[in-house]
Amino acid sequence: MKLKTRKEVPVEQTWDLTLIYPDDDAMWKALEDLKADAKNLVEKYKGRLNTAENIVGCLDDMEKILPEQLKIYSYSGLAMEADYTDNAVRERSEKVGDELTRMDSELSFVDSEILLAPDEELRKAVGLAKGCRNYLEDLIAKKAHMLSPETEKVLASLDRSFEVPYTIYNTMKLADIAFDPFTVDGKEYPLGYSLFEDDYEYEADTKVRRAAFRAFYDTLKKYENTTAAAYNACVSQEKVMAELRGFKDVFDSLLFEQKVTREMYDRQIDVITERLAPHMRKYATLIGKKYGLDRMTFADLKLALDPEYDPRVTIEESHKYVREGLSILGDDYVDMVDRAYKERWIDFAKNIGKSTGGFCSSLYRANSYILLNWNDRMADVFTIAHELGHAGQGMYTTAAQSAYDSEPSMYLVEAPSTMNELIFANHLIHTSDDKRFRRWVLSSQIGHTYYHNFVTHLREAWYQREVYKIIDEGGSVNAEILSELFRKNLELFWSDAVEISEGAELTWMRQPHYYMGLYPYTYSAGLTVATQAMLRIEKEGAPAVEDWKSFLTAGGTKDPAGLAKIAGVDITTDGPLNATVDYIGSIIDEICELTEEIDGIKL
Ligand SMILES: [Zn+2]
Repeated sequence: MKLKTRKEVPVEQTWDLTLIYPDDDAMWKALEDLKADAKNLVEKYKGRLNTAENIVGCLDDMEKILPEQLKIYSYSGLAMEADYTDNAVRERSEKVGDELTRMDSELSFVDSEILLAPDEELRKAVGLAKGCRNYLEDLIAKKAHMLSPETEKVLASLDRSFEVPYTIYNTMKLADIAFDPFTVDGKEYPLGYSLFEDDYEYEADTKVRRAAFRAFYDTLKKYENTTAAAYNACVSQEKVMAELRGFKDVFDSLLFEQKVTREMYDRQIDVITERLAPHMRKYATLIGKKYGLDRMTFADLKLALDPEYDPRVTIEESHKYVREGLSILGDDYVDMVDRAYKERWIDFAKNIGKSTGGFCSSLYRANSYILLNWNDRMADVFTIAHELGHAGQGMYTTAAQSAYDSEPSMYLVEAPSTMNELIFANHLIHTSDDKRFRRWVLSSQIGHTYYHNFVTHLREAWYQREVYKIIDEGGSVNAEILSELFRKNLELFWSDAVEISEGAELTWMRQPHYYMGLYPYTYSAGLTVATQAMLRIEKEGAPAVEDWKSFLTAGGTKDPAGLAKIAGVDITTDGPLNATVDYIGSIIDEICELTEEIDGIKL
């Protein structure tokens, strides 16, 4: 089970970055060309952004630069995500990062200068603008929070330094951390980050699972102070920026960009913490009974209810599953699925130094790239469906919208992806009448889709909110404080139903999300919209599918509430969230009934 090096993995399991540039030389050439374009833009517009015509002309020129930057950034950055131990790749990525930061710094005059233009010209510019109109309106709304052009330039040139905490975190996690093997009953087991997250957390043998848990967290603990210091640096920076830009607090500063109110943010965390907890405790208790555990612990929470029913799937079969499972979204969607496989958009391989988890990175009016760690499980097919959801949004949005409007608010980023998980689960359910199969699909919806988005990431969100409260009050955090908070967080949610194993409090060390602002809570926000839209599709069919596609196409042209409305979901009230929690509860009830029928296990 020894992990391969990147060079040893079969090429067909890797993504094909030559779809971006045929080779490194082509990328460097593209970078030189782009630098020339940026230089031209500076010469043409610097000092002249005081008329409506020039403002719009400049932003239109900028719009051509953005997708090229993204291509260069992706070509170098994605290679690094696939292998953090490759120093040459890391060096290249650093160099590209430096060059692009310098370019952004040179171009930072655009926003600041535009805001110095007379109000009348700004109004006129909004009227003239096409692709850049939303961007311009957002910029004007930001005016009160902008600093002088000189300061903005300095800040832009420091952009890479602001990312240092995240870089330290990733370097610790992907390059430095080393796990010793652990032993159970005389047998030695290898351990690693993805081995733990992809295998041992689901291991049916309780002795092995709990021993792996202990060994994993014992090793994490050795790095707790470095990780906490990096995180404290990150949140302190955010606090300083919030103050500099004149926001009330860090929350307001971070939610401003997302176009989300504090009420919408708090609602996700509070309603789920309070109303979902009883349902999830019930589910956890059922798992404990099914496995005949003496006590249910945090180390047992990822167990599948019926692991034998987690069918083994090959990469080739996954293609068939996904294209059939998502066919309700139409031929153009299926076409994209086929291209993803044929053109190698997906990096399936497991190798040393590769990023854990999964993500999708979409280029503008081109393909997407998907990273995952393939384990031959049906659960991985759900991951592919999920990531293709991001790719699908990238495809529809960029085809229809300007580069400025190509991304929706972070609040809805996970809606298209989790929607695909739900659609895929519904498809699977209809392929068989077998009760055990039905229970397997339902329980993977709970154990994966909802657990991931409404429990794992929502607990992160709860914890993160507490951290920012401390920071807002002028405090700072260290490993001890963070662990204490996280333990409290887990105990609050699981209460007596789950024993919070020793080490579980270090779970704050496992996610890179904390370095991305108020991101964790958005998983549940996106899935709330997806769940309600999916229930509409179930009920209404084609018209609801069309609305969903319009939602995917709208990109960042509206705020989250406006976008969700296109999909027929009103997120200005707590209705969709409550209905989603009820829906989760009803699935868990059905799983309990099926388990009583199939196994004779009663809660
Ligand atoms: Zn996602």
